[in-house]
Amino acid sequence: MQRPIYLDHHATTPLDAAVLDAMMPYLTDAFGNAASKTHPYGWEAEEAVETAREQISALIHAKPEEIVFTSGATESDNLALKGVAMAYRDRGHHIITSPTEHKAILDTCHYLEQQGFEITYLPVDHTGRVNPDDVRNAITPQTILVSIMHVNSEIGTIAPLSEIGAITRERGVLFHSDAVQSVGKIPVDVDDLQVDLLSISGHKIYGPKGVGALYVRKTRPERIHLEPTVHGGGHERGVRSGTLNVPGIVGLGKACEVCQDLMPEESVRLGQLRQRLYAGLTSRLDDVLLNGHPEFRVPGNLNLCFSRVQDESLLLSLKDVVALSAGSACTSDSHEPSYVIQAIGVEPYLAHSAIRFGLGRHTTEAQIDRVIDAVVEKVERLRALAPSAAPVSSGS
Ligand SMILES: *Cc1c(COP(=O)(O)O)cnc(C)c1O
Repeated sequence: MQRPIYLDHHATTPLDAAVLDAMMPYLTDAFGNAASKTHPYGWEAEEAVETAREQISALIHAKPEEIVFTSGATESDNLALKGVAMAYRDRGHHIITSPTEHKAILDTCHYLEQQGFEITYLPVDHTGRVNPDDVRNAITPQTILVSIMHVNSEIGTIAPLSEIGAITRERGVLFHSDAVQSVGKIPVDVDDLQVDLLSISGHKIYGPKGVGALYVRKTRPERIHLEPTVHGGGHERGVRSGTLNVPGIVGLGKACEVCQDLMPEESVRLGQLRQRLYAGLTSRLDDVLLNGHPEFRVPGNLNLCFSRVQDESLLLSLKDVVALSAGSACTSDSHEPSYVIQAIGVEPYLAHSAIRFGLGRHTTEAQIDRVIDAVVEKVERLRALAPSAAPVSSGS
C-alpha cells in the first residue's frame, strides 16, 4: 500500500539526504568523544562540532560561541526558562509569556509557578499575535524574562519579535524566543529581533531527532548567566553537561546550512503551494475559515476550520490519502479543541473542526492537487451525513 502524502511538517520532517551523508562518518569511523583532548579521535570530533556551531550561528547571525547544544528544543526551552529563573531569582520572580506557546514553555512555566515564580500569560489577538504594548505594560521591576515564540506551531503566525525585543532591551529584561518553527524557514537574525536566548530543534529542519541548540547572547552588555539544568562534567561552558551527541550535532549543523542555501527558493515555492491549497479548498467548499494571520505567516503553514465537520472524523477519513493533524502532536491525544485555537477566540462550534496543513521540502503541486480533491470529497460527505450539526439548524 502506498503511504499517505506527508503534510505534517510541523510535527517533524524527514532527514535531508545531505544531512545523513554528513552524519555518517560520525556514526562509524569518526566515533571520538569531542571532549577527548589527547588523541585524534577526540580532535576530529571536536572539529566537527565547531563546524556545526559555525553553520548554526551563520543561519541566525550569531557567534559560534553563543551556541549551546542540547537534546532538542524541549530541553532548550527548559534551559532558557529555568536557567534564567534560577540565576536571576534574586533580582525578581516575574516572567511574561503567552497562552499559545508550545507545551515545552507552558509546562515549564507551570513548574516555575510551583517554585514561587509569578507568570503573566499575555492575551493574543484573533490572529495569534501578542501586542507589544501589552508586553510593555506587563513589565514590572520584578520582571526578569519575556518568552514569546517566533512562529506558532499550529497556526503559523509570526510574532512581532523585534518590537517586543526593543521593549525588553529598553527595560533591561531578558528576552527568549522558541524559534523552532521559524529558523530555517524564514530569515532569523538575533540582532534584528533583539532576542537574548533562542531555541532551535534539529528534526523540524530536516535534521536528526534528539538534538537541538540554545542561542545565548554573549554580552548584553553584561554576561547572561544560566543556572544549568543538567550537571556533570561541565561541557558547553558548564551550561549543559553530558557527552556531546557528535553525529546529531553534525546533522543539525548541516541541516542549518542546507536550509540557508534553499530558503530563498523554498519559501517562495511553499508559499505558492500553500496559496494553491487555500484557493483550491475555498473555491470548492463554503464555510472554510482561515486560522492565524493572513500575511504574517510562515510559508508552509495553512490552518483551516471546516464548519460542520469534526476534525477527528475528517482526519480519520483522510488517513490513507494524507497525513495531517489537528494541532500539536504533543496534545493530539486529548479530545479538547486545541488550546491555541481556543486562545485566538475561534467560536466553540468551529474549534473542533481545525486542521493544520504543514507543507515541506518534498511537497509537490501534484500532491497538493490530490489533497484538495480528497479533502473536498470527504468534507462534502461528512457534511451530508451530519446536517444536524450545522449551526443554523442547531437551535431548531
Ligand atoms: C517541536 C517543537 C518543540 C520541541 O522540540 P523537540 O526538539 O522535539 O524537543 C518546541 N517548540 C516548538 C514550537 C516545536 O514545534
